[in-house]
Amino acid sequence: MQNKEQLLEVQTIFSRRHIGLLIVLLLFLANNFIFNNQQMKIGFIPSMVISSVLVLDIFLAYNNFFHKFPFLVIVRYIEIIATGILISDISDKGMSNINNIVVILFYSMFLIEIILLYDMTELRNSLGVSILCQIPFIADAIMVLITHDDNYVTRSINYISVAIISFMVSWAIATYYGKTQKYYEQYMFSRDRLLDRAKDNSEKINESQKNLRTVNEQLGIKKFELEEAYHKINNVNADMEFQNHFMTMMMSTLNLGKLVNEARELLNERFDLSYSELVFVNEEMRDKYITDSLENVLGEEEALEFNEFFLSELFIQEHSEMGSRFILGQVDYDEFPFFKKAEIASVAVNTLIMDDSGNRALYIMLSKVRDIFADKEMLFSNIFGQMEVVARNISLYYEIRQMSIMDALTGLYNRRYLNVYFNENFINSGAARNVSAAMVDIDFFKRINDTYGHLFGDMAIKTVAKLIGISAKANKGEAFRYGGEEFVIILEGKSLSEAAQIMEELRISIKNTPVVSGETSINLNVSIGVTAYPEITKDISTLIDRADKAMYYSKQHGRDRLTVDNGTD
Ligand code: GH3
Ligand code: MG
Ligand code: MG
Repeated sequence: MQNKEQLLEVQTIFSRRHIGLLIVLLLFLANNFIFNNQQMKIGFIPSMVISSVLVLDIFLAYNNFFHKFPFLVIVRYIEIIATGILISDISDKGMSNINNIVVILFYSMFLIEIILLYDMTELRNSLGVSILCQIPFIADAIMVLITHDDNYVTRSINYISVAIISFMVSWAIATYYGKTQKYYEQYMFSRDRLLDRAKDNSEKINESQKNLRTVNEQLGIKKFELEEAYHKINNVNADMEFQNHFMTMMMSTLNLGKLVNEARELLNERFDLSYSELVFVNEEMRDKYITDSLENVLGEEEALEFNEFFLSELFIQEHSEMGSRFILGQVDYDEFPFFKKAEIASVAVNTLIMDDSGNRALYIMLSKVRDIFADKEMLFSNIFGQMEVVARNISLYYEIRQMSIMDALTGLYNRRYLNVYFNENFINSGAARNVSAAMVDIDFFKRINDTYGHLFGDMAIKTVAKLIGISAKANKGEAFRYGGEEFVIILEGKSLSEAAQIMEELRISIKNTPVVSGETSINLNVSIGVTAYPEITKDISTLIDRADKAMYYSKQHGRDRLTVDNGTD
């Protein structure tokens, strides 16, 4: 089907071209009028008719009347009918050859223009137009037949012949034009279909590509999630391994100092730490365990500021609960200026309750690496929870051990511990330096018990033990309650004469220290024996035995005296 806009445009172009034809026609008319009277007479009427029709056509075309389709159709029909009438006239009256040619050419042109007005792919249109164009000839034929003029039969046959030829010509043109239109339409249709199909295909391809992209994206996301999960599992595994290692280490020692050192080593291996330390809140305890100096890491002033913050009562109170933790992943230097110089970015502070009396310690870790303690809550909870348990066990162990080696009445070590002490320090490890031993026994103690009672006797034992303890401590030795009212003193690094001097002083101080209870006040005497390794005996295991013997010698030789072993038996 033709596009109406295109059709109107083409028809308007035709009409504009008619201006040129009009001019040519008028020149043709003028030429015949001026130079050839004879012919002018004959050509005047058809030329005027055609000129008038062309003027009408041009006027309507230029005034946009053709946009109303019926005007266009009417004008085209006026043109064809007018030229048709002229051709009838030619066939009837006869005209000069040139006039005939002009009229026939015009008729042909208008015929083609009319044909181009319609959709000639449809048979009824091509037939209809071809028939309509024959109106003048048919009308003339009918007129001639009705009027019965001269030669009316011949003339009517002439008209009908012209009509038939003209019909055949117009129908042939219309049919050819129709076919061309059809081919063109089919071509356009198949081209459009091809284009549509191509468009469809490209849309499908686009869709597929989009789907593919989505799938890829999802795959990418899944891959990322998988990697993330893999990373997490790896991390958890590493944490578990570390935790196991840490636990095993902690089980292997009952020494807190050693435990802290090994913990520090393991933590340093696992994390990139600038500082790792167990810090007791209690100042006395603090100095006992710290080996890594905070000043060296943060700076002197900064370390003080650090302690002011982290060892403050407020911080301890806020983080005093079991398992309480303080973790920073990106330190704000406005809030914690003391971390700036050392460029500390991550901080982890774990509170540990060290014993039943509530002694608290902080396990502090500092690192320059950001977020190094992220996701380590569980790990820290486990390892420091374990460390807390171990620390408490250690403290309990020392408490019980202390109890087991102490004599309850005097507070000195007991005889059992003397054996352990002696074995550990001298017999197993081999004594490298001078060791001397002294045995002290209170004289006639049974009498004191008998005279003043056992309670007073106990007090007497305590008084003597206290003096012995003071003397041992003052000389960097150890004192033991050996039996009821017998004591042993071990001195290291002293010669026999030095030990004898110390014992003599002890004997005199005991002698001069009264035991007082209420009204009762008595003075005691002791017998002492002293010996030395390696001066007197080369066999250190005989040391206590020899001291005992020397003391027995004092007993036998008047008591209240000191016997210095001279090496004889
Ligand atoms: P000697 O001068 O020979 O040493 O005479 P002694 O009376 O002191 O004799 P010995 O050392 O053998 O006596 C020890 C006495 O000490 C025997 C016991 O009744 C008494 N004793 C032992 N342990 C205790 C104690 O824990 N408390 C009291 N009150 N007496 C004790
Ligand atoms: Mg005794
Ligand atoms: Mg005695």
